[in-house]
Amino acid sequence: MKTTTPEQPRHRARKRFGQNFLVDTHVINNIVAAINVKPDDHVVEIGPGLGALTDALIKAGRHLSVIEIDRDLAQRLNQRYASEKHFSLHRSDALKTDFAEIASGQTMRIVGNLPYNISTPLLFHLLRYRTSISDMYFMLQKEVVDRLAAPPGNKNYGRLSVMMQYHCQIQALFTVPPTAFNPAPKVTSAVVRLIPHIDPPHRVIDMQLFERVVKTCFQQRRKTLRNSLKVLTDGMIELPDSDIDLGARPETLSVAEFVALSNLLSKTM
Ligand code: SAM
Repeated sequence: MKTTTPEQPRHRARKRFGQNFLVDTHVINNIVAAINVKPDDHVVEIGPGLGALTDALIKAGRHLSVIEIDRDLAQRLNQRYASEKHFSLHRSDALKTDFAEIASGQTMRIVGNLPYNISTPLLFHLLRYRTSISDMYFMLQKEVVDRLAAPPGNKNYGRLSVMMQYHCQIQALFTVPPTAFNPAPKVTSAVVRLIPHIDPPHRVIDMQLFERVVKTCFQQRRKTLRNSLKVLTDGMIELPDSDIDLGARPETLSVAEFVALSNLLSKTM
């Protein structure tokens, strides 16, 4: 249980660490309800900050690991939760953290009100550990959640949508106004749930090629697939017996079609 700790000095939010602290208890409760922690879960919180979510997570779970880059905040958290048996703090950069080491053979549930400047690279970093992750709950800029969840044909559909949807089921949960934070960010936020697929519904043969195909096609959204893919295929591109229209633009292709395209290319290149 939490012990009484001496009053701590006010923390001044650091912009470089994307510090916008959640202060709206209604939003905090909604996030915690969506996560629905069970006593046996190992929860990993990225960027606990002043502990807005941490308090509720520690009460609900058996094992909570937190990763915080800010030395001052890490020190506060250590003091505050010193008496918690199943609490461990990693003072490190989440982008460089070895999540397999944190998982230590267990499955983790990952949670975070993420600093907006690292959210996309962090999502890609976490994908490497997807087999040890049962689900993830993140507060992100709404614009990023729109891109994660966008279907083909939508203006927000792009590389992030295809890559994340290949690996995870994505559910946009609810939006959060700037007034829920202190200091208030300039943009609206949203909470998203990502559930890594145990078996991806479509199987890529060559993951490196898939990543290159998706990246290349979306680098110039207005180009046709045929024109974009020339750089990967030395100018030649033939896909006999395929339904894929190489005259189409990338935003019209579903994840399944990107997988089929990459698998066909892997056989012809
Ligand atoms: N969870 C708290 C809340 O909801 O009030 C704080 C959220 S604040 C948006 C982001 C937190 O992530 C800050 O505590 C910040 O210091 C931390 N942070 C920023 N960059 C980080 C990184 N690369 N690795 C780990 N933590 C980071």
